[in-house]
Amino acid sequence: MTTRVLVTGAGGFIGHHLVKFLVARGYWVRGVDTKPPEFEPSPAHQFELLDLRRWDNCLIATRGIEEVYHLAADMGGIGYITAYHAEVARNNTLINTHMLEASRVNGITRFLFSSSACVYPQYLQKSPDVTPLKEEDAYPADAEEGYGWEKLFAEKLCQYYREDFGLQTRIVRFHNVYGPLGTYEGGREKAPAAICRKVALAQEGDEIEVWGDGKQTRSFMYIDDCIEGIYRIMRSDYPHPLNLGTDRLVTIDELVDIVCAIAGKRLRKRYDLTKPQGVRGRNSDNTRLRQVLGWEPSIPLEVGLERTYRWIEEQLRKAWRIPSPLLAQR
Ligand code: NAD
Repeated sequence: MTTRVLVTGAGGFIGHHLVKFLVARGYWVRGVDTKPPEFEPSPAHQFELLDLRRWDNCLIATRGIEEVYHLAADMGGIGYITAYHAEVARNNTLINTHMLEASRVNGITRFLFSSSACVYPQYLQKSPDVTPLKEEDAYPADAEEGYGWEKLFAEKLCQYYREDFGLQTRIVRFHNVYGPLGTYEGGREKAPAAICRKVALAQEGDEIEVWGDGKQTRSFMYIDDCIEGIYRIMRSDYPHPLNLGTDRLVTIDELVDIVCAIAGKRLRKRYDLTKPQGVRGRNSDNTRLRQVLGWEPSIPLEVGLERTYRWIEEQLRKAWRIPSPLLAQR
């Protein structure tokens, strides 16, 4: 019989990609979000617009469902999560608490929670050549204000629901996911999408703004690896938090240089030190991921960024914000 699954946050970046993947695998999929996907229709068998901060809506969302991929969250890039601590923490507390309890009430068998590398302590991320973060490094806790603390507590809540009620929970700590069909402007976008947009809009020799001094480091995971990893973790029997990311550390400067090379443009960087840059360095230690799954993300940054850049460029061209190559030649 077809397994009936719920994807929350199905109107969002990762959720929409996951719905496509699960439908292609033969699952019956209900997608829930407060908004439909931004760039193309959802292929979900059912798509419901529900605000999951509300308990009654969480019960509606989980009715007749066997497995839940819980991705809905009030979130955005560093600019957004730094600006709205109270709202982000309150909204996500309501969403996560109600979704776990509704899943228990409706007899869900597996529940995957999307956590974040933002749970890791700030005191371990003060240097650009940071030691990759292992899962147990999350304690003693000193998470990212607002968003990170809420994720850390929700991880605990998943653990308690598993121990006390037998709900099979899976906890994934994503490290910087990027790819096509992701938000690339408006304030919620992340660094790779923002950089692709800025480079696409710039002319040869222009100056583009970089947040911070460009020396801060991160690792980045392409969306296809992320979706494959989510699915493998859901199918595994591993109930504890697991990193899902790549362990190739790059500076933001390097990220800009890779995108410029893809675009074939030489641009100058102007560093804005007043903008938030988050922790100084962050990388994923994939030792446990490899042990548990015998697999880890492998799509090279250059390959993923090429696809992402081309997609963002195409969106901007469709909106007449950059000239098409044919017009430019005239
Ligand atoms: P996203 O913002 O594109 O998707 C989240 C979706 O949740 C949005 O479509 C939003 O409308 C929806 N949502 C917010 N409030 C809601 C509510 N009250 N009721 C119903 N839906 C609501 O973000 P994403 O990048 O797809 O992230 C998915 C999950 O992964 C989130 O839980 C996020 O915290 C986590 N995560 C993502 C990254 C990343 O790099 N993208 C990194 C770490 C963790």
